[in-house]
Amino acid sequence: MREFRLDEPPPRELNSLRRAWDRDDDRPAIRSRGRAREHRRRAHLLEAQHPEQLAEPGQRLLEHPGQGVVRRVPSRDAGAAVDDDDLCLGDEIVDGRPDLDRLVANDAVAGNDGARFRDPLLQPDAVVVAVRRPRVAHGDQAHANGALLRRGRSVCIRAHPRPIVLAVRGRSATLPAPVTDPATVVDRAVERLRPLHRDASLAWWDANLAATEEHERRRVETELALSDALADPDLYREISEARDSGATGLDRRQLDLLHASAVPHQVPAELRHRIVELEAAVEARFSQHRGVVGGRPVDDNEIKRILRTSDDSAERREAWEASKTVGEAVAEDVRELARLRNQAARSLGYRDWFALAVDISEMDEARLFETLDECDRLTADRFARWKSGTDARLAERFGCTVDELRPWHYEDPFFQEVPAAGGVDLNAVFADRDVVRLARETYAGMGIDTAGILDRSDLYPRDGKCQHAFCIDIDREGDVRVLANVENDRYWADTMLHELGHGMYDLGFDPSLPWLLRDCHLTVTEGIAILMGGLVWDAEWLERVAGVAAGEAADLDDRLRAVRAAELLVFTRWVLVMTNFERAFYSDPESDLSSTWWSLASRYQLLTPPARDGAPDWAAKIHVACAPVYYHTYLYGNLVAAQLRTSLEGVAGGLVGRSEAGRFLAERVFAPGESVRWDRLLEQATGEPLTAAHAARTIDRGLAG
Ligand SMILES: [Zn+2]
Repeated sequence: MREFRLDEPPPRELNSLRRAWDRDDDRPAIRSRGRAREHRRRAHLLEAQHPEQLAEPGQRLLEHPGQGVVRRVPSRDAGAAVDDDDLCLGDEIVDGRPDLDRLVANDAVAGNDGARFRDPLLQPDAVVVAVRRPRVAHGDQAHANGALLRRGRSVCIRAHPRPIVLAVRGRSATLPAPVTDPATVVDRAVERLRPLHRDASLAWWDANLAATEEHERRRVETELALSDALADPDLYREISEARDSGATGLDRRQLDLLHASAVPHQVPAELRHRIVELEAAVEARFSQHRGVVGGRPVDDNEIKRILRTSDDSAERREAWEASKTVGEAVAEDVRELARLRNQAARSLGYRDWFALAVDISEMDEARLFETLDECDRLTADRFARWKSGTDARLAERFGCTVDELRPWHYEDPFFQEVPAAGGVDLNAVFADRDVVRLARETYAGMGIDTAGILDRSDLYPRDGKCQHAFCIDIDREGDVRVLANVENDRYWADTMLHELGHGMYDLGFDPSLPWLLRDCHLTVTEGIAILMGGLVWDAEWLERVAGVAAGEAADLDDRLRAVRAAELLVFTRWVLVMTNFERAFYSDPESDLSSTWWSLASRYQLLTPPARDGAPDWAAKIHVACAPVYYHTYLYGNLVAAQLRTSLEGVAGGLVGRSEAGRFLAERVFAPGESVRWDRLLEQATGEPLTAAHAARTIDRGLAG
């Protein structure tokens, strides 16, 4: 039961977009809209120029407070404080502190929040303020609003991404509370993020429907706008402070999600922009590229058809090699993406992009590899036995020895699926069926209406259109769409069930949840999608939905179980290749990646590497470029699917035609959205933490005979 959409680059940017923020509606900041943009831009520039000059000198000031230094104040309030005409810089504090003197002298003061300084506790003569802002370069005093040099010295407050040190002398002064109220921070973040998210989602959709220059331009533009919002250092600081201020419950949960979204964007703007633009360029090339077979360009469906039906090894080889030519076309750019992503990750203190990606997806890298190693141990012997039998059949079919089998003898270009020779060829079942209708009826049988999704979707192949499949929630208010390239075969039957699984999840969030929480963790939504796609291997589904004769379906049952088991085996081995490859890829993008790729395929998939003379076959897998460090999510999805299936069998006796199953999923899995962390959600729904036991049992039962 593989049942995932491997060729489904997830809308990665969208998945992280759901967390941004805005503080522009805040009272003191509402008048400073124009400034915020200027400050943000400048802060980035300075970050790039002076990465080493962060708050360390200011920290010293705090550790060795001068006379009367009483507290540290966040920038917003420091800005308010220093904006009074009677304010003077604290010469006493500055005396004898050349480092601070330099810093103060170099600072620039903005400020038209003077009203806040009328606070009686902040009498000017009672306050002496020294503000330093180490990222501001000497002479960097320009202000969009024309403010303001004070007595020849000017201090800029808001542009600083970290708290400003404010030294206060005189009687104890209470400055206005920093804006860290969690609910307020969340509200403003959502107000800013929500329209950007929607714009980017629509642009993503359009760009995948037709890879035109205009669509690409708009997609990049909207993604950058979203990325810029998430990158705003002031906003990041505000989220972090609100998060550290004791936020609890749903506020805390929303702040956690916002924080995880913003973290990877806290890198210099130029670097972020290069990554987004390069990703878009590579993805466009994947959409447009066509390999050549028999002298004519062919799309992925045609290549798969040849690999499914041809008994001619030479033709198979040509088709397989055609499927890899996109790798040559994009390899150098994909390497460059790894360098740029690593640069970004390291600027945030991570080892590399792999470490960052795992961390911000609420996973633990050590635990991930423990799980992968466990899956390796659980499947190695079974896989070797299964493949040995399969290879014998393939060798017979192609009239060669087992030793002569090469990757093109398997049905999928990456050997990520079970060849028909390994089990039951269901394509005949679907040849004269409308797979979209079958999918709709499957969901209807569970009490779930998918008509709204299907009406908005774009389901059939067309030139210039993305050849893959995905589901996207445009606005978290019901506009959920599927892109597919349906043909009436088993693959697309599986895919339609899969994508509508994502779709029904997106439609199932409790509508009273806050916008940020009307979302789901990738692991669980993949689990649902895999669970649903897997129904094409289910004898009950084949009989009741696909109309296979009852006796025939019953006869198929054992063999279908074996195929499901084999699919899970094959897929697990493939994920071991992908995930280990990606870790190696980010560990050293300059290494011999072709060797790494084929040595992993040899070790985990037991493939005999073809003579490829260093060809970058690894780059032909679109996920490496466009869905980085995502693949393990599919394996987790399989574990989740197996676990949920066990629960559904207990609760409703299965899925097909059972509205109780639909209700269980709606109430226990969909409704909570992101209000609960994914691993706890799964535990709440199924009564136990994530375990590979159910998936292992599927394999054991299926292949026991
Ligand atoms: Zn999926």
